[in-house]
Amino acid sequence: MTTRPAGRKRTGIGVVWFRRDLRLADNPALVEAIQAHNQVVPLFVWDPVLASRAGGPRLAFLHGCLEDLDRSFNGNLVIRCGDPVDAVPRLADELDAENIWCAEDFGPYGSRRDLAVSDALSVHGRLLWRVGSSYAVSPGELLTGRHRPYQVFTPFSKAWWAKGWDLPLDEPGIDGSIMTGVASSPLPQLPAMGASLPRAGEAAARGRLEQFLEDSVEHYDDQRDRPDHDGTSRISPYLKFGCLHPRQVLALLDPINPAHRRYQTELCWREFYADVLHHRPDSARAAYRREWQAFATDSGSETEARFEAWATGQTGYPIVDAGMRQLLGEGWMHNRVRMIVASFLVKDLHIDWRTGARWFMQHLVDGDIASNQHGWQWVAGTGTDAAPYVRVFNPVAQGKRFDPHGTYVRRWVPELAGLADDTIHEPWKAAGSFLAPEPAYPAPLVDHASEREEALARYGALRAASRV
Ligand code: FAD
Repeated sequence: MTTRPAGRKRTGIGVVWFRRDLRLADNPALVEAIQAHNQVVPLFVWDPVLASRAGGPRLAFLHGCLEDLDRSFNGNLVIRCGDPVDAVPRLADELDAENIWCAEDFGPYGSRRDLAVSDALSVHGRLLWRVGSSYAVSPGELLTGRHRPYQVFTPFSKAWWAKGWDLPLDEPGIDGSIMTGVASSPLPQLPAMGASLPRAGEAAARGRLEQFLEDSVEHYDDQRDRPDHDGTSRISPYLKFGCLHPRQVLALLDPINPAHRRYQTELCWREFYADVLHHRPDSARAAYRREWQAFATDSGSETEARFEAWATGQTGYPIVDAGMRQLLGEGWMHNRVRMIVASFLVKDLHIDWRTGARWFMQHLVDGDIASNQHGWQWVAGTGTDAAPYVRVFNPVAQGKRFDPHGTYVRRWVPELAGLADDTIHEPWKAAGSFLAPEPAYPAPLVDHASEREEALARYGALRAASRV
């Protein structure tokens, strides 16, 4: 990270390059730029590489966040489209800007891109100051007593608590600091969206957090696993794009209160996975535990048809289908259900976790490479302190336990709405005693008990080869 020498005088023009920090409050890069320069230009670069990977819901949400940020800057947010390695130095040349400011990005693509932009800027003697990050404790800051990266969550979380974090910064006064009249491109037009997304932007983020703190946080520890209740904060898209910083959330919580502490621990998972990915960028694309790269998965046309049934919510397992339909309907899925559907893809359908992770990244509004790939690896058993492979989620038992009245299933699988609470989670053929619901809901794609045995047999084969 580049740190600015203290006590400099205000000079010239500075550019604040926004990426995953689309807010004014508690934005250290913005504060520093305003302190350092007479005039500041807020910039966002619409990068076709990131846009091609994002999927409709995330792009639409990002669009909304940028419109909100533009309003906060009274219409002076500068948009440029193209490769940031060209676009950022070009704007700096046009303005004869002194320096560029941004938050540090720790993702595999973002960190490579920033090095390239920094090099390109340095040709004309400009610096890319990287101030702060999207995390309360930035990736790389915590190491074990033996100066190694953490591989297990619990010791990481202890170190995270012990290190602590700064209080959030106040929103800076921007009047008179923001340069007007800089040429800006329109945001690209996006295709119409099927999913109904949360309201985008900084004010919406704060509103959602306040509502959660008022209504739900006190019951978070016993409600967080219930997809039939609105018991989680749903701030993940806002954290993803930095409409909120985790510091702002942590500052409002009381670590002595067990429910609050539990919530803070979940925020810590996000930081843990970012740290893991920072140290092992290859784990975005391959098993974190390398011996698992040899694990046998299925492929071919039958597998593709099974994947299609999973992706569109047609597996015949109600809780799985409800989750996959929620993903298509809202661009979001409850955490418990993410685990259930991921387990079903990997252990019942024997499909490579990366295929599911890719689908999630295309459809999640909060899609985040660190949390997503490592969430998948946790379920698949290939990750850090992953669930042991032998723990195979039973979709019927999970449904009954976490959606006991079938409320969640009824919301997303209306074909089953008429069924009683005690049968709604059964695949209809297995329940036997009732007729197939109308209009027809699919028969179970596979038999869970047999596929569980198959999954365990494959695990046994890998172990026999002494690889795990
Ligand atoms: P809350 O329960 O209110 O938690 C608050 C915040 O803590 C979340 O917004 C999130 O930032 C963080 N958090 C909570 N649980 C986790 C977790 N297990 N791992 C990492 N961070 C967590 N989260 C993403 O933000 N993006 C993803 O792409 C993503 N993909 C996932 C894929 C799988 C297979 C699994 C099992 C989990 C994934 N998660 C992902 C983690 C988790 O499901 C979501 O963060 C959570 O559901 C978001 O809803 P919320 O804001 O209401 O969470």
